[in-house]
Amino acid sequence: MDIKELDSKYIANTYGRFDLTFVSGSGSLLYDDKGRKYIDLGTGIAVNVFGVADPEWKKAVSEQLDVLPHTSNLFYTKPQAELAQLLCEKTGLSKVFFSNSGAEANECAIKTARKYSSDKYGDGRNVIITLKNSFHGRTLATLAATGQDSFHKDFGPFPEGFVYADANDFSSVQKLAGENNVCAVMMEIVQGEGGVNALENEFVKSVADFAAENDILLIIDEVQTGNGRCGSLYAYMKYNISPDIVTTAKGLGGGLPIGATLLSAKCENVLTAGSHGSTFGGNPVVAAGALSILKRLDDSLFSEVEKKSEYIRSELTNLPCVRSISGMGLMLGIEVDKDAKQLAVECLKNGVVVLTAKNKLRLLPALNISWDDLKTGITLLKQVLS
Ligand SMILES: *Cc1c(COP(=O)(O)O)cnc(C)c1O
Repeated sequence: MDIKELDSKYIANTYGRFDLTFVSGSGSLLYDDKGRKYIDLGTGIAVNVFGVADPEWKKAVSEQLDVLPHTSNLFYTKPQAELAQLLCEKTGLSKVFFSNSGAEANECAIKTARKYSSDKYGDGRNVIITLKNSFHGRTLATLAATGQDSFHKDFGPFPEGFVYADANDFSSVQKLAGENNVCAVMMEIVQGEGGVNALENEFVKSVADFAAENDILLIIDEVQTGNGRCGSLYAYMKYNISPDIVTTAKGLGGGLPIGATLLSAKCENVLTAGSHGSTFGGNPVVAAGALSILKRLDDSLFSEVEKKSEYIRSELTNLPCVRSISGMGLMLGIEVDKDAKQLAVECLKNGVVVLTAKNKLRLLPALNISWDDLKTGITLLKQVLS
């Protein structure tokens, strides 16, 4: 049997896969099983921050693999401690809990917010406001947190205590806070799966101020937007706010699974021995790789991200079938007047990998994609769009 037949016979059918098997890659180039080359503008969904098989990341990972791949969190390990230190130093947040995915990072944020409130105010103040059209993960709690009805079918009953405000409508947040016993607000700065829509500055600022005044924890989900993707270390840093909890994953691991929940001083001691845990979370190999990524996320890279973002916008803006371009940095949504999924398939046929979000094309190139590869990729994309 070929790979496609094996896959359909033995793998649960949860992904609408593209008809393509990648076998190797390097930087922003991917190669399929027929030896055909592709420019990668998707980075495995915002994961391969410095491209496929980035040499520095590979070196950090393989060196750690040689000396100590795993011990569990019953013992101290150097890569994890150093990664936590750098995350805190770069954000001003106080402590980190490590897990293995974005959903788990959000689970930890939800548990922390509820325990913070329960420690301080007793039972019952446990409702979390999230936004309509958000996406926070696939576990039952993070599905419940996800503000899209289509995710709330078939798998009930869901954990209670999530209510959904309208994005960019501060009065709807206030209203829900008035009607419920709220402990936290959770939102993405750019709603990724929801269509690559950045929240308005004034809305984010109003919610942050309101949350601070009412001792409601502000949780920012930076799973997709984070780690340089939007032109700053974390996207909230462009909004002049101080979240209480920041979650991240995808790009932080640079190609291996990690989740991180960053806690501000206000809630750094909420989680106590035995109250939360993970067998693999912050595993030495993953942490060593993440450290090699995080070290290189600096201002010169961010300004390069902004330049590339501008370039992509200016190249695509005036095409007849492009209605609008949304997003920030190298997380861009291209609203098109054709079927986005079909266009993504045509892009693959033309040698460029792009993703979709709702009915938009979604571009998430490597932050260090070379100008040559970027220009080739955008040319291939433009051929499909025109
Ligand atoms: C991808 C994503 C998640 C879920 O991450 P997993 O690693 O797939 O569990 C959560 N929140 C946002 C904003 C995401 O983009």
